[in-house]
Amino acid sequence: MASGKTARKSGNQYDCSKCPGYCCSYPLIEVGKRDIQRLAKHFGISYAQAETRYTRFDKSEKVRSLRQQEDEHFGRICKLFDTKKRQCTVYESRPGVCRDYPEGKRCGYYEFLQFEREHQDDPTFVATT
Ligand code: SF4
Ligand code: SF4
Repeated sequence: MASGKTARKSGNQYDCSKCPGYCCSYPLIEVGKRDIQRLAKHFGISYAQAETRYTRFDKSEKVRSLRQQEDEHFGRICKLFDTKKRQCTVYESRPGVCRDYPEGKRCGYYEFLQFEREHQDDPTFVATT
């Protein structure tokens, strides 16, 4: 959810620009009203349009989540993710939960990815979880 593909920030032990976007493939990425309002403003559409187009209500968890699209690597990924460039299309307007991830200076997914790439001796290898 942090895959804006900005360069590694000082001190962070992960680099979203080298990651295929594991965190954006979570099936449930919760959003609130402020998040939807921000997306509506970003796209110049109404709140209702943004809510319908980019979110869905998850009945089992009883929360509103970002919609998904098909993805060659993970099966499904956030609808707002660019599946070719492997980055968020709304980085500056992304939901709060995406801004907060990962907490701290390390990303478990990135460490897993680096381990697998070294193991395969292939810096472009995309390991699936
Ligand atoms: S809004 Fe952007 S950062 Fe958040 S899950 Fe979707 S693609 Fe990832
Ligand atoms: S899984 Fe980690 S390294 Fe990959 S895009 Fe998300 S925050 Fe960045």
